[in-house]
Amino acid sequence: MPELPEVETVRKGLTNLVAGKTIADVDVYWDRIITPPFSSEAFRNELLGETIHRIDRRGKYLIFILDHWAMISHLRMEGKYEVEQTGEPLKKHTHVVFHLTDGRDLRYLDVRKFGRMTLVPIGTQHEVTGIRDLGPEPIPEMFKLQPFKVALKTKARAIKPLLLDQKIVVGLGNIYVDESLYEAKIHPLRPANSLTSAEVKRLYHAIIDVLGRAVEAGGTTIRTYQNALGEAGKFQVALLVYGKTGEPCVRCGTPIKKMKVAQRGTHYCPQCQILTDKNSLPVT
Ligand SMILES: [Zn+2]
Repeated sequence: MPELPEVETVRKGLTNLVAGKTIADVDVYWDRIITPPFSSEAFRNELLGETIHRIDRRGKYLIFILDHWAMISHLRMEGKYEVEQTGEPLKKHTHVVFHLTDGRDLRYLDVRKFGRMTLVPIGTQHEVTGIRDLGPEPIPEMFKLQPFKVALKTKARAIKPLLLDQKIVVGLGNIYVDESLYEAKIHPLRPANSLTSAEVKRLYHAIIDVLGRAVEAGGTTIRTYQNALGEAGKFQVALLVYGKTGEPCVRCGTPIKKMKVAQRGTHYCPQCQILTDKNSLPVT
């Protein structure tokens, strides 16, 4: 599944390829990709003649800013975009084709058909369910230490699932949450309100650091996911703990362990990220 850094890479790739281009026609081959209230026929009609001014991103949602509409696209598990000359044969799993007036197509492919697209009136894209409740983007301009501290203080939930739910800060999927907790030396099962002030600060900086480096590197290439528009990532962020089960911790040499937390494979160093009865108690 693409995480935020991969989606940001897709956003940049799409910006280079289709920003400023106008949609001449749309073919939808799998209706369920288009979510209500629009039928695929209405979706097509509304997009005719619209220009793609820019592509924004919130969390893992891509937001195409058009003349009258914002087209919101979520890639989910395997969705990806490709740009081809109009008339080139469609590859297997092509579900939506945007014909551009410059003789090219923007094509959406999705092996598992879990991805979704929808249109909302321009200006309302931040009020859409799914986007509305997202936490701040993980950059210092948006994500601030003090509100992060307050948010953790009021939650007794384990820190890993809390960060995965995207409400306190966006961008931490299963890979980067493990990396951030490792960097901050915090056990994934620590209750959020048991983190000391120093730990919250370490975690805050780790999240900005890990996601910042991943965005810069264009994301990781894990499993079948290819980052920008089908082109496999040339750069990969070095993962220190995710997928390193049994390998020595780069800090202390202890073999990395794997366990399940909230049904997710979770990697940690049992020496650097300790869970004790004492450090599990709320900080008062
Ligand atoms: Zn260690």
